[in-house]
Amino acid sequence: MTNERIGVLGGTFDPIHLGHMVVASEVCAALALDRVILVPAHRQPFKDSTGHASPAQRIAMCRLAVEGDDRLEVSDVDIARGGLTYSVDTLTDLAAEHPGAELFFIAGADAVSRLSEWREPARLMQLATFVGVRRKGSPIPALTPPHLVVETPEVGVSSTEVRRRRRTGEPVRYLVPDPVAAYIAQHALYLGGPDA
Ligand code: ATP
Repeated sequence: MTNERIGVLGGTFDPIHLGHMVVASEVCAALALDRVILVPAHRQPFKDSTGHASPAQRIAMCRLAVEGDDRLEVSDVDIARGGLTYSVDTLTDLAAEHPGAELFFIAGADAVSRLSEWREPARLMQLATFVGVRRKGSPIPALTPPHLVVETPEVGVSSTEVRRRRRTGEPVRYLVPDPVAAYIAQHALYLGGPDA
């Protein structure tokens, strides 16, 4: 379909949690997007992924999380490409897969305010409109060129917190979608090993 408005939410998703789900859903509604594609990174340049879930497990959890919400889907372009994940490659691949679509790249407002430090910023801005997500009440960052800002409710959960809870035996239910909690338990994920 052409002229589709597609949101792109990249991340490590190790694991996907309700903060991610709220961001995807809120941006989809606020910008009247047709859908939002979650794109788990293979490896991010600034993150050490040792001792965490495998790429296949991160994808599987994302797929479980979006089941039943037909606005949300999951792409494996970054994991299939392998190596370090750069947003410019993610957007290039998705643009090729969805000719004619308008892409909206979703990230934290702080990250979007530092877009000039990303790889190939000029090309990035040709490929997508950048959407900075700002948690309600947090300072408004100084965003340079034409970026959009969407305010979302504060959901105080991170993947780091979910992994920490697993190591200490605290519950993760209600912080991640139910099928993801079941998958984490079934595969005995995040019970040990190093963490950032
Ligand atoms: P970690 O704790 O392992 O660093 P994370 O919870 O920040 O992970 P990522 O997969 O790195 O999750 O995040 C992907 C995207 O989702 C990023 O743009 C990040 O800013 C955003 N994000 C993550 N958690 C939240 C949250 N609770 N509320 C709003 N945005 C979030």
